[in-house]
Amino acid sequence: MTENFTQLNLKSEIIDGLNSMGIDKPTPIQSQAIPEIILGKDILGIAQTGTGKTAAFLLPVIQKITEQSNRKNISALIIVPTRELATQIDQAIAAYGYFTDISSMPIYGGGDGKIFNQERHAIESGIDIIVATPGRLNMHINLGYVNFSELKFIILDEADRMLDMGFLPDIQRVLKVLPREKQSLLFSATMPDNIFSFASSILKDPTIINIALSKPPSNVKQGAFVLFDNQKIGVLVDYLTPRKDKSVIVFSSRKAQVSEIQNMLKRKGFSSLAMSSDLEQSEREFALNQFRNQQCKILVATDVMSRGIDIKGVDVVINFDVPGDAEDYVHRIGRTGRAEAEGEAVTFIVPEDQYKFKKIETLIQTTIEKLPIDPKFGDLPEYNPKAQSNKKKPFKPFKRKSR
Ligand code: AMP
Repeated sequence: MTENFTQLNLKSEIIDGLNSMGIDKPTPIQSQAIPEIILGKDILGIAQTGTGKTAAFLLPVIQKITEQSNRKNISALIIVPTRELATQIDQAIAAYGYFTDISSMPIYGGGDGKIFNQERHAIESGIDIIVATPGRLNMHINLGYVNFSELKFIILDEADRMLDMGFLPDIQRVLKVLPREKQSLLFSATMPDNIFSFASSILKDPTIINIALSKPPSNVKQGAFVLFDNQKIGVLVDYLTPRKDKSVIVFSSRKAQVSEIQNMLKRKGFSSLAMSSDLEQSEREFALNQFRNQQCKILVATDVMSRGIDIKGVDVVINFDVPGDAEDYVHRIGRTGRAEAEGEAVTFIVPEDQYKFKKIETLIQTTIEKLPIDPKFGDLPEYNPKAQSNKKKPFKPFKRKSR
């Protein structure tokens, strides 16, 4: 195991950036990926958020770009699924590259014409790194002023998520306008067949680094409530009441339900905000910031939030419904129990979701404790996933719908 960043051939100005963030020891993906990227290799990285994957690709890329003199055009393009991830990576570039002259710009959908023009201006001025969502990037490419002739790096982050969201045609359109000679890095939390064949089509003799973990962190205490749909709200309120000082994310897979839950919590006196793709970009940023700063204790969110977004210090994750995908469960509850802190994760299971939940238990090889529910809520369903499975279509653990 590598002990420090100097051993990974990183230069002092990059290490200074890390030190100022209190980071001094590489994570496994950093130890493995950084020297390979510095050597010029393509990378296929199977790793999810929380492994340190962002720094694993940013540090060597920033170093290699800033070593070039006389940079006039875009040197690196990072393609990501969501605006939040674009902003987060852009901020990470500013932090890791603080002691260098690297420049970057996030390019994502939404916003007004003024923002589009700012993006255009940054692109035309030859910014070093663009961090973009695929659709918005194509809008700029179609207008003819994006110059990728000196591009050295293409990085695809959260590739599985992008394919699930239907971005493949957009990504392919972008790839067509990039120079042949470049270094390609692809990261994905999971590696189903479609990602593997996509990766094989764009990477040249890649170094494969697998840090996949389909297991929740061991310091998260998991539990579940087996109940009927009309009992969820009451049980949620009872559960949150003794946890008013905790920082909580409530996940719902339905956008419409996010605002319903949040309004109900507000009426009951809980400080809460909603976060879903239905909201304006500015509202989403506001919610995320309030939650990060602990001004608001409860964030009610769709799966837009479950991956990629780095929020520290979440004490409790509540799955208001069972995630449609076993890997999503691991991602959702991975928001808590970070950096050795204790976390709690509870899932509400209605009869139709029991079979899905059983699949999750199988994936993570854990039987999750079914928690007692106050008798005041009345009769409860039995937990009998096998019986329920006969009533429902089979659950496909790795197939996600776009949200
Ligand atoms: P990521 O997996 O890229 O989303 O990173 C998750 C979090 O880990 C971020 O808050 C990083 O600042 C932090 N981080 C990245 N590298 C390290 C490291 N070597 N040691 C400690 N924390 C790190």
